[in-house]
Amino acid sequence: MSLLESKLPNVGTTIFTVMSQLAEQHGAINLSQGFPDFQPPARLVELVEKHLRDGRNQYAPMAGVMALREAIAEKLRDLYAVHADPESEITITPGATEALFAAIHAVVRAGDEVVVFDPAYDSYEPAVALAGGKTIHVPLETPSFTPRWDRLESVLSDRTRLVIVNTPHNPSGTVLSEADLAELAALLRPYGCYVLSDEVYEHIVFDGRHASVLANPELRERSFAVFSFGKTYHATGWKTGYAVAPRALTAELRKIHQYLTFAAVTPLQHALADFMRECPEHHLELADFYRKKRDFFVERLRASRFAFTPSQGTYFQLADYGRISREPDTDFARRLTIEHGVAVIPISVFYADPPAGATFVRFCFAKQEATLRAASERLVAV
Ligand code: PMP
Ligand code: GLN
Repeated sequence: MSLLESKLPNVGTTIFTVMSQLAEQHGAINLSQGFPDFQPPARLVELVEKHLRDGRNQYAPMAGVMALREAIAEKLRDLYAVHADPESEITITPGATEALFAAIHAVVRAGDEVVVFDPAYDSYEPAVALAGGKTIHVPLETPSFTPRWDRLESVLSDRTRLVIVNTPHNPSGTVLSEADLAELAALLRPYGCYVLSDEVYEHIVFDGRHASVLANPELRERSFAVFSFGKTYHATGWKTGYAVAPRALTAELRKIHQYLTFAAVTPLQHALADFMRECPEHHLELADFYRKKRDFFVERLRASRFAFTPSQGTYFQLADYGRISREPDTDFARRLTIEHGVAVIPISVFYADPPAGATFVRFCFAKQEATLRAASERLVAV
Protein backbone atom coordinates (compact mmCIF):
# COMPACT_ATOMS: atom_id res chain seq x y z
CA MET A 1 0.00 0.00 0.00
CA SER A 2 1.28 3.46 -0.79
CA LEU A 3 1.90 5.86 2.07
CA LEU A 4 -1.14 7.85 3.04
CA GLU A 5 -1.02 11.35 1.62
CA SER A 6 -2.28 13.64 4.37
CA LYS A 7 -5.31 15.79 3.66
CA LEU A 8 -3.92 18.29 6.17
CA PRO A 9 -0.18 18.11 5.55
CA ASN A 10 0.58 21.33 7.43
CA VAL A 11 -1.44 20.52 10.52
CA GLY A 12 0.27 19.17 13.62
CA THR A 13 -1.08 18.67 17.13
CA THR A 14 -2.96 21.75 18.33
CA ILE A 15 -0.96 24.16 20.50
CA PHE A 16 -3.53 23.72 23.30
CA THR A 17 -2.66 20.05 23.63
CA VAL A 18 1.06 20.66 23.21
CA MET A 19 1.23 23.28 25.97
CA SER A 20 -1.10 21.49 28.39
CA GLN A 21 1.01 18.34 28.02
CA LEU A 22 4.21 20.30 28.58
CA ALA A 23 2.68 21.93 31.67
CA GLU A 24 1.77 18.53 33.06
CA GLN A 25 5.13 17.01 32.26
CA HIS A 26 6.97 19.79 34.11
CA GLY A 27 4.43 20.39 36.88
CA ALA A 28 3.92 23.97 35.70
CA ILE A 29 0.91 26.15 36.54
CA ASN A 30 -1.18 25.83 33.42
CA LEU A 31 -2.33 29.23 32.13
CA SER A 32 -2.12 27.96 28.53
CA GLN A 33 -5.16 26.04 27.23
CA GLY A 34 -8.32 27.96 28.12
CA PHE A 35 -10.30 26.23 30.84
CA PRO A 36 -11.34 27.08 34.41
CA ASP A 37 -9.66 25.36 37.36
CA PHE A 38 -12.95 25.62 39.28
CA GLN A 39 -16.28 23.85 39.01
CA PRO A 40 -19.57 24.60 37.22
CA PRO A 41 -22.40 25.88 39.48
CA ALA A 42 -23.32 23.13 42.00
CA ARG A 43 -27.00 23.35 41.06
CA LEU A 44 -26.17 22.72 37.42
CA VAL A 45 -24.17 19.61 38.31
CA GLU A 46 -27.11 18.47 40.46
CA LEU A 47 -29.44 18.90 37.46
CA VAL A 48 -27.13 16.80 35.28
CA GLU A 49 -27.20 14.06 37.93
CA LYS A 50 -30.97 14.32 38.11
CA HIS A 51 -31.41 13.92 34.36
CA LEU A 52 -28.96 11.01 34.25
CA ARG A 53 -30.95 9.27 36.99
CA ASP A 54 -34.31 10.19 35.45
CA GLY A 55 -33.26 8.26 32.37
CA ARG A 56 -32.48 11.01 29.86
CA ASN A 57 -29.83 8.76 28.40
CA GLN A 58 -30.86 8.12 24.82
CA TYR A 59 -30.41 10.18 21.66
CA ALA A 60 -31.52 13.77 21.83
CA PRO A 61 -33.42 15.20 18.87
CA MET A 62 -30.99 15.88 16.02
CA ALA A 63 -31.37 19.66 16.29
CA GLY A 64 -31.28 19.63 20.08
CA VAL A 65 -33.61 19.30 23.08
CA MET A 66 -36.50 21.71 22.42
CA ALA A 67 -36.56 23.10 25.97
CA LEU A 68 -32.95 24.19 25.55
CA ARG A 69 -33.55 25.72 22.13
CA GLU A 70 -36.48 27.64 23.63
CA ALA A 71 -34.37 28.87 26.55
CA ILE A 72 -31.75 30.07 24.06
CA ALA A 73 -34.40 31.86 21.98
CA GLU A 74 -35.58 33.66 25.12
CA LYS A 75 -32.06 34.66 26.01
CA LEU A 76 -31.42 36.00 22.50
CA ARG A 77 -34.59 38.05 22.77
CA ASP A 78 -33.73 39.43 26.20
CA LEU A 79 -30.09 40.20 25.51
CA TYR A 80 -29.99 41.23 21.86
CA ALA A 81 -33.65 41.87 20.98
CA VAL A 82 -33.23 39.16 18.34
CA HIS A 83 -35.94 36.79 17.25
CA ALA A 84 -34.66 33.29 16.45
CA ASP A 85 -37.06 30.43 15.80
CA PRO A 86 -36.09 27.45 18.01
CA GLU A 87 -37.60 25.08 15.45
CA SER A 88 -35.71 26.24 12.38
CA GLU A 89 -32.89 28.57 13.43
CA ILE A 90 -31.20 27.17 16.54
CA THR A 91 -29.14 23.96 16.56
CA ILE A 92 -27.45 22.41 19.60
CA THR A 93 -24.04 20.94 18.80
CA PRO A 94 -21.33 19.00 20.64
CA GLY A 95 -19.29 22.12 21.33
CA ALA A 96 -18.86 25.30 19.35
CA THR A 97 -16.13 23.42 17.47
CA GLU A 98 -18.67 21.18 15.77
CA ALA A 99 -20.91 24.16 14.97
CA LEU A 100 -17.95 25.95 13.35
CA PHE A 101 -17.04 22.89 11.30
CA ALA A 102 -20.64 22.28 10.19
CA ALA A 103 -21.19 25.95 9.28
CA ILE A 104 -18.01 26.03 7.20
CA HIS A 105 -18.92 22.81 5.42
CA ALA A 106 -22.48 23.99 4.86
CA VAL A 107 -21.35 26.81 2.58
CA VAL A 108 -17.73 26.37 1.45
CA ARG A 109 -17.10 24.55 -1.83
CA ALA A 110 -13.92 23.69 -3.72
CA GLY A 111 -12.10 26.86 -4.74
CA ASP A 112 -14.11 29.21 -2.53
CA GLU A 113 -12.27 31.81 -0.50
CA VAL A 114 -12.78 32.24 3.22
CA VAL A 115 -11.44 35.31 4.98
CA VAL A 116 -10.12 35.09 8.53
CA PHE A 117 -8.43 37.70 10.70
CA ASP A 118 -5.07 36.64 12.11
CA PRO A 119 -4.35 35.70 14.84
CA ALA A 120 -7.22 33.27 14.16
CA TYR A 121 -8.54 30.47 16.35
CA ASP A 122 -6.92 27.31 15.08
CA SER A 123 -9.94 25.24 14.10
CA TYR A 124 -11.11 27.47 11.24
CA GLU A 125 -8.50 26.90 8.55
CA PRO A 126 -8.39 23.06 8.66
CA ALA A 127 -12.18 22.98 8.27
CA VAL A 128 -11.95 25.30 5.27
CA ALA A 129 -9.16 23.18 3.75
CA LEU A 130 -11.17 19.96 4.16
CA ALA A 131 -14.07 21.65 2.36
CA GLY A 132 -11.69 22.42 -0.53
CA GLY A 133 -11.67 26.14 0.21
CA LYS A 134 -8.79 28.57 0.41
CA THR A 135 -8.20 30.66 3.53
CA ILE A 136 -7.31 34.31 2.98
CA HIS A 137 -5.58 35.79 6.02
CA VAL A 138 -6.04 39.42 6.94
CA PRO A 139 -3.84 40.41 9.88
CA LEU A 140 -5.28 42.44 12.73
CA GLU A 141 -3.27 45.56 13.50
CA THR A 142 -0.60 45.12 16.16
CA PRO A 143 -0.37 45.91 18.98
CA SER A 144 -4.05 46.99 19.12
CA PHE A 145 -5.36 43.71 17.59
CA THR A 146 -8.15 45.58 15.84
CA PRO A 147 -9.30 45.00 12.26
CA ARG A 148 -8.51 47.47 9.51
CA TRP A 149 -11.64 47.24 7.40
CA ASP A 150 -9.94 48.59 4.28
CA ARG A 151 -7.71 45.51 4.41
CA LEU A 152 -10.78 43.31 4.40
CA GLU A 153 -12.21 45.30 1.52
CA SER A 154 -9.06 44.72 -0.52
CA VAL A 155 -9.44 40.92 -0.40
CA LEU A 156 -13.20 40.67 -0.99
CA SER A 157 -14.29 39.43 -4.41
CA ASP A 158 -16.86 37.23 -6.06
CA ARG A 159 -14.76 34.28 -4.94
CA THR A 160 -15.34 35.17 -1.26
CA ARG A 161 -17.77 32.66 0.17
CA LEU A 162 -17.40 33.29 3.90
CA VAL A 163 -15.91 35.84 6.29
CA ILE A 164 -15.12 34.56 9.78
CA VAL A 165 -15.09 36.97 12.71
CA ASN A 166 -14.52 36.29 16.39
CA THR A 167 -15.64 38.67 19.13
CA PRO A 168 -14.66 38.81 21.98
CA HIS A 169 -11.45 37.73 20.34
CA ASN A 170 -9.29 34.78 21.27
CA PRO A 171 -6.31 35.19 21.77
CA SER A 172 -6.12 39.00 21.95
CA GLY A 173 -9.07 39.79 24.25
CA THR A 174 -10.28 42.65 22.01
CA VAL A 175 -13.94 43.16 21.09
CA LEU A 176 -15.78 44.44 18.03
CA SER A 177 -18.26 47.32 18.50
CA GLU A 178 -21.67 47.76 16.91
CA ALA A 179 -20.00 50.33 14.65
CA ASP A 180 -17.45 47.72 13.55
CA LEU A 181 -20.25 45.34 12.65
CA ALA A 182 -22.07 48.11 10.76
CA GLU A 183 -18.86 48.68 8.80
CA LEU A 184 -18.60 44.97 8.07
CA ALA A 185 -22.22 44.88 6.90
CA ALA A 186 -21.63 47.81 4.56
CA LEU A 187 -18.48 46.27 3.11
CA LEU A 188 -20.20 42.96 2.41
CA ARG A 189 -23.24 44.58 0.78
CA PRO A 190 -22.01 44.11 -2.81
CA TYR A 191 -21.09 40.47 -2.21
CA GLY A 192 -23.17 37.34 -1.81
CA CYS A 193 -20.94 35.87 0.89
CA TYR A 194 -21.83 34.58 4.35
CA VAL A 195 -20.50 35.43 7.80
CA LEU A 196 -19.48 33.01 10.52
CA SER A 197 -19.30 34.78 13.85
CA ASP A 198 -17.58 32.99 16.70
CA GLU A 199 -19.11 34.53 19.82
CA VAL A 200 -18.28 31.88 22.40
CA TYR A 201 -17.15 34.57 24.89
CA GLU A 202 -20.33 36.67 24.45
CA HIS A 203 -20.87 37.02 28.22
CA ILE A 204 -17.30 37.97 29.02
CA VAL A 205 -17.13 41.62 27.91
CA PHE A 206 -15.70 44.02 30.47
CA ASP A 207 -16.87 47.43 29.23
CA GLY A 208 -20.28 47.86 27.70
CA ARG A 209 -22.17 45.09 25.99
CA HIS A 210 -21.30 42.36 23.56
CA ALA A 211 -22.08 43.30 19.96
CA SER A 212 -23.54 40.23 18.23
CA VAL A 213 -23.88 39.86 14.46
CA LEU A 214 -27.40 38.64 15.24
CA ALA A 215 -28.37 42.13 16.41
CA ASN A 216 -27.32 43.69 13.10
CA PRO A 217 -30.30 43.09 10.79
CA GLU A 218 -28.22 43.00 7.63
CA LEU A 219 -25.62 40.61 9.06
CA ARG A 220 -28.31 38.50 10.71
CA GLU A 221 -29.55 37.52 7.23
CA ARG A 222 -26.22 36.11 6.13
CA SER A 223 -24.66 34.89 9.38
CA PHE A 224 -24.08 31.80 11.40
CA ALA A 225 -23.42 32.80 15.03
CA VAL A 226 -21.74 30.20 17.22
CA PHE A 227 -21.83 29.94 21.03
CA SER A 228 -20.51 27.60 23.73
CA PHE A 229 -21.99 26.51 27.06
CA GLY A 230 -18.49 25.39 28.03
CA LYS A 231 -17.37 29.00 28.50
CA THR A 232 -20.53 30.29 30.11
CA TYR A 233 -20.97 27.50 32.69
CA HIS A 234 -17.31 26.69 33.50
CA ALA A 235 -17.70 23.30 31.86
CA THR A 236 -15.42 23.15 28.81
CA GLY A 237 -15.35 19.36 29.10
CA TRP A 238 -19.07 19.10 28.44
CA LYS A 239 -18.53 20.11 24.82
CA THR A 240 -21.98 21.58 24.30
CA GLY A 241 -22.66 24.62 22.15
CA TYR A 242 -25.05 25.94 19.53
CA ALA A 243 -25.40 27.68 16.21
CA VAL A 244 -27.96 30.32 15.30
CA ALA A 245 -28.61 31.04 11.61
CA PRO A 246 -31.51 31.85 9.28
CA ARG A 247 -33.71 28.94 8.31
CA ALA A 248 -32.04 28.16 4.94
CA LEU A 249 -28.54 28.25 6.42
CA THR A 250 -29.61 26.20 9.42
CA ALA A 251 -31.11 23.57 7.12
CA GLU A 252 -27.73 23.17 5.39
CA LEU A 253 -25.80 23.22 8.68
CA ARG A 254 -28.02 20.44 10.04
CA LYS A 255 -27.33 18.27 7.00
CA ILE A 256 -23.68 18.27 8.06
CA HIS A 257 -24.32 18.09 11.81
CA GLN A 258 -26.60 15.06 11.47
CA TYR A 259 -23.85 12.98 9.89
CA LEU A 260 -20.97 14.41 11.85
CA THR A 261 -22.38 13.57 15.29
CA PHE A 262 -26.18 13.49 14.83
CA ALA A 263 -26.92 15.09 18.22
CA ALA A 264 -25.35 16.58 21.34
CA VAL A 265 -25.29 14.83 24.74
CA THR A 266 -28.85 14.46 26.07
CA PRO A 267 -28.70 14.85 29.89
CA LEU A 268 -26.49 17.92 29.59
CA GLN A 269 -29.01 19.62 27.32
CA HIS A 270 -31.88 19.01 29.73
CA ALA A 271 -29.82 20.25 32.67
CA LEU A 272 -28.71 23.38 30.81
CA ALA A 273 -32.30 24.14 29.82
CA ASP A 274 -33.45 23.88 33.44
CA PHE A 275 -30.53 25.89 34.73
CA MET A 276 -30.97 28.72 32.22
CA ARG A 277 -34.54 29.10 33.46
CA GLU A 278 -33.70 28.74 37.16
CA CYS A 279 -30.60 30.93 37.16
CA PRO A 280 -30.77 33.54 34.40
CA GLU A 281 -28.52 35.72 36.55
CA HIS A 282 -25.59 33.35 35.99
CA HIS A 283 -24.69 34.64 32.54
CA LEU A 284 -25.55 38.22 33.51
CA GLU A 285 -22.99 38.08 36.34
CA LEU A 286 -20.25 36.42 34.31
CA ALA A 287 -18.57 39.64 33.12
CA ASP A 288 -18.19 40.88 36.73
CA PHE A 289 -16.99 37.48 37.82
CA TYR A 290 -14.22 37.48 35.22
CA ARG A 291 -13.46 41.21 35.54
CA LYS A 292 -12.42 40.53 39.14
CA LYS A 293 -10.12 37.76 37.98
CA ARG A 294 -8.64 39.88 35.23
CA ASP A 295 -8.02 42.77 37.65
CA PHE A 296 -6.53 40.47 40.28
CA PHE A 297 -4.16 39.01 37.70
CA VAL A 298 -3.12 42.21 35.90
CA GLU A 299 -2.57 44.11 39.16
CA ARG A 300 0.03 41.54 40.07
CA LEU A 301 1.47 41.36 36.57
CA ARG A 302 2.21 45.11 36.73
CA ALA A 303 5.13 44.31 39.01
CA SER A 304 6.64 42.13 36.27
CA ARG A 305 8.53 42.98 33.08
CA PHE A 306 5.59 41.88 30.92
CA ALA A 307 3.80 44.76 29.14
CA PHE A 308 0.07 44.60 28.42
CA THR A 309 -3.21 46.42 27.90
CA PRO A 310 -5.94 44.91 30.08
CA SER A 311 -8.14 42.52 28.14
CA GLN A 312 -11.54 43.86 26.96
CA GLY A 313 -13.20 40.47 26.88
CA THR A 314 -12.68 36.65 27.02
CA TYR A 315 -10.76 35.05 29.87
CA PHE A 316 -7.42 35.67 28.20
CA GLN A 317 -4.76 38.29 28.76
CA LEU A 318 -2.15 38.95 26.11
CA ALA A 319 1.25 40.17 27.27
CA ASP A 320 4.41 41.36 25.55
CA TYR A 321 7.60 39.80 26.88
CA GLY A 322 9.87 42.00 24.73
CA ARG A 323 11.55 43.52 27.82
CA ILE A 324 12.50 40.03 29.00
CA SER A 325 13.66 38.37 25.81
CA ARG A 326 13.62 38.65 22.02
CA GLU A 327 13.43 34.91 21.40
CA PRO A 328 10.55 33.52 19.27
CA ASP A 329 7.31 33.13 21.22
CA THR A 330 7.22 29.33 20.88
CA ASP A 331 10.70 29.12 22.47
CA PHE A 332 9.79 31.64 25.16
CA ALA A 333 6.56 29.76 26.00
CA ARG A 334 8.48 26.49 26.35
CA ARG A 335 11.15 28.09 28.49
CA LEU A 336 8.58 29.86 30.69
CA THR A 337 6.89 26.51 31.26
CA ILE A 338 10.03 24.48 31.93
CA GLU A 339 12.25 27.00 33.73
CA HIS A 340 9.71 29.25 35.45
CA GLY A 341 6.78 26.88 35.93
CA VAL A 342 4.05 28.85 34.12
CA ALA A 343 2.60 27.51 30.86
CA VAL A 344 1.25 30.02 28.31
CA ILE A 345 0.20 30.04 24.65
CA PRO A 346 2.50 31.54 22.00
CA ILE A 347 0.33 33.39 19.51
CA SER A 348 2.44 33.16 16.35
CA VAL A 349 0.83 29.76 15.74
CA PHE A 350 -2.46 31.55 15.01
CA TYR A 351 -0.94 33.41 12.04
CA ALA A 352 -0.29 32.41 8.44
CA ASP A 353 2.47 35.01 8.47
CA PRO A 354 3.39 36.05 12.02
CA PRO A 355 4.54 39.67 12.42
CA ALA A 356 8.35 39.71 12.51
CA GLY A 357 9.82 40.10 15.97
CA ALA A 358 6.47 40.03 17.78
CA THR A 359 6.79 38.96 21.41
CA PHE A 360 3.30 38.14 22.68
CA VAL A 361 2.02 35.25 24.77
CA ARG A 362 -1.48 34.53 26.04
CA PHE A 363 -2.39 33.86 29.69
CA CYS A 364 -5.70 32.24 30.71
CA PHE A 365 -7.05 33.87 33.88
CA ALA A 366 -10.05 31.56 34.33
CA LYS A 367 -8.40 30.37 37.52
CA GLN A 368 -8.86 30.54 41.27
CA GLU A 369 -7.15 33.43 43.04
CA ALA A 370 -4.64 31.07 44.62
CA THR A 371 -3.59 29.84 41.15
CA LEU A 372 -3.34 33.38 39.78
CA ARG A 373 -1.39 34.51 42.85
CA ALA A 374 1.09 31.65 42.58
CA ALA A 375 1.50 32.16 38.83
CA SER A 376 2.03 35.90 39.13
CA GLU A 377 4.67 35.42 41.84
CA ARG A 378 6.59 33.30 39.35
CA LEU A 379 6.00 35.76 36.50
CA VAL A 380 7.26 38.70 38.54
CA ALA A 381 10.50 36.82 39.05
CA VAL A 382 11.10 36.31 35.31
N1 PMP B 1 -13.96 29.33 19.37
C1 PMP B 1 -13.13 29.97 20.20
C2 PMP B 1 -12.66 31.33 19.89
C3 PMP B 1 -12.71 29.31 21.36
O1 PMP B 1 -11.85 29.91 22.18
C4 PMP B 1 -13.18 28.01 21.62
C5 PMP B 1 -12.71 27.34 22.82
N2 PMP B 1 -12.28 26.66 23.28
C6 PMP B 1 -14.05 27.40 20.72
C7 PMP B 1 -14.42 28.09 19.60
C8 PMP B 1 -14.56 26.00 20.91
O2 PMP B 1 -15.55 25.88 21.87
P1 PMP B 1 -16.05 24.44 22.35
O3 PMP B 1 -15.14 24.01 23.43
O4 PMP B 1 -17.46 24.68 22.82
O5 PMP B 1 -16.01 23.53 21.18
N1 GLN C 1 -10.44 27.42 23.15
C1 GLN C 1 -9.45 26.98 24.08
C2 GLN C 1 -8.32 27.98 24.09
O1 GLN C 1 -8.31 28.90 23.31
C3 GLN C 1 -8.88 25.63 23.78
C4 GLN C 1 -9.78 24.65 23.16
C5 GLN C 1 -9.06 23.38 22.84
O2 GLN C 1 -8.17 22.98 23.55
N2 GLN C 1 -9.43 22.78 21.78
O3 GLN C 1 -7.44 27.85 24.87
